[in-house]
Amino acid sequence: QPVCACDLMLFGASGDLAQRKLFPALYQLDRAGLLASDSRVLAIARRDTDTAALRKALLARLEEQIPEPEFDATVAQGFVSRVEYLELDFTDTDGFLVLNDWRHPGNQLIVYMATPPSMYGVIARNLRAGGCCTERTRVVVEKPIGHDLESSKVINDELAEVYRESQLFRIDHYLGKETVQNLIALRFANNLFASQWDQNHISHVEITVAESMGIEGRWGYFDQAGQIRDMIQNHLLQLLCLIAMDPPSDLSADSIRDEKVKVLKALKRITPDMMAEYVVRGQYTSGTSEGKPVPGYLDEEGANKASETETFVALKAEIDNWRWSGVPFYIRTGKRLPEKMSQIIIHFKPAPHYIFDPDQKHLANNKLIIRLQPDEGMALKILTKDQGLDKGMRLRQGPLELTFSETFDTDRIPDAYERLLWEIMRGNQYLFVRRDEVEHAWRWVDQIIRNWHDSGEPPKRYAAGTWGPVASIAMITRDGRSWYEDV
Ligand code: NAP
Repeated sequence: QPVCACDLMLFGASGDLAQRKLFPALYQLDRAGLLASDSRVLAIARRDTDTAALRKALLARLEEQIPEPEFDATVAQGFVSRVEYLELDFTDTDGFLVLNDWRHPGNQLIVYMATPPSMYGVIARNLRAGGCCTERTRVVVEKPIGHDLESSKVINDELAEVYRESQLFRIDHYLGKETVQNLIALRFANNLFASQWDQNHISHVEITVAESMGIEGRWGYFDQAGQIRDMIQNHLLQLLCLIAMDPPSDLSADSIRDEKVKVLKALKRITPDMMAEYVVRGQYTSGTSEGKPVPGYLDEEGANKASETETFVALKAEIDNWRWSGVPFYIRTGKRLPEKMSQIIIHFKPAPHYIFDPDQKHLANNKLIIRLQPDEGMALKILTKDQGLDKGMRLRQGPLELTFSETFDTDRIPDAYERLLWEIMRGNQYLFVRRDEVEHAWRWVDQIIRNWHDSGEPPKRYAAGTWGPVASIAMITRDGRSWYEDV
């Protein structure tokens, strides 16, 4: 059922995010009957075009972007007729006056800032000056919220000058992924796992978010950030929080976010003397990707040859609390790795007393594999007896497998942005990041970045198409473990 009618002001409508993610997601919501009949979109950007030209271009792009069975020309036509265009420079305060005339006072106003973060405060202030700022307005902002704790506070303060925290929806699109939400269901709807989810039963946790692509023409943008700011501070720490948090007392946004904050606060600070053992930073050199030769990071288009920005990070995070004491979380993420793949592996401890073939002892710990992509799903690796008379009590490891698309016969899994936009329309903040989460995550990451700078050590090189610097393998093998490989 659609929620109330919404007026969505989309700032930055000509940008990559709006074009590639937001318009297709809105189309899909319309196709699913989830947009109220009088919901509308005001696409705002500074380029010189008009509503008719925008609709024509949008229709053509949707036809190109949406796969065949999901593209319905009538729905697409109906969707683009909801969209109007406004040419506006975000710094032009007077230009904002027209926004109040566009708005239907009965509709829920949503302001989506798909713009550089430096524009968030400017847009918020200009909306207020233009009289287009109500108590009910919902405001959506994208990552990155700053490039360190101090700059994130500036952005958050600017937004807080105009809006209350309950009006702010900070996006981390990983939280919109089906499998990520399933972490909450898996952990808190299944007592089987709830009772096993601590240092008594889990030996360690792995989180890998691997990208096979390189910089894709965004060298300048990426080089300012690097992999730790771009991926760890937000997506990977959010995944870690969902795995590690205590059960919330209910599903309300603040109950969940309170628990996540407790995890972030309990992350052990990585001090300079711990760096060699706990953190590896890498930068890719030339190599191959999907069988083709590819250039190194410093030879990409527009590269500064002296850059020491990391394209890979592996680290060992520890959570200083009762539940996780002694359980390392090994995290790695990088560009130009052998495949595009994201997964979480929960390694359970072996049974307390082992009675089978000593040669097979290495098999003796259950693993829960949570695949975010590809093939979203879960597998629980358990041990059974090998079949056949000659096998005796030999063990064999096999999966209890749940691939969502197959098991539940779903024809499509909604994109993260569809779910996030839908929750914004419903006014539900549980999939959005609260200010204190952002700030605690920065506090932890800033310390690591400071240590890097102080040490002056350059990133370790790894060839494109490999799993990162050898040091990242050494980091985990030193603890007598290895990165999980499905064999
Ligand atoms: P982008 O391609 O650079 O688009 C930025 C948009 O803002 C463009 O429409 C641009 O208009 C507009 N803009 C900037 N300054 C303006 C001004 N003074 N007046 C009017 N319009 C102005 O950026 P993006 O990739 O879409 O990213 C948008 C936000 O989402 C950023 O905060 C980014 O970090 C975040 N994000 C993006 C992605 C992604 O996949 N792209 C993923 C995660 C987060 P012009 O075209 O006229 O310059």
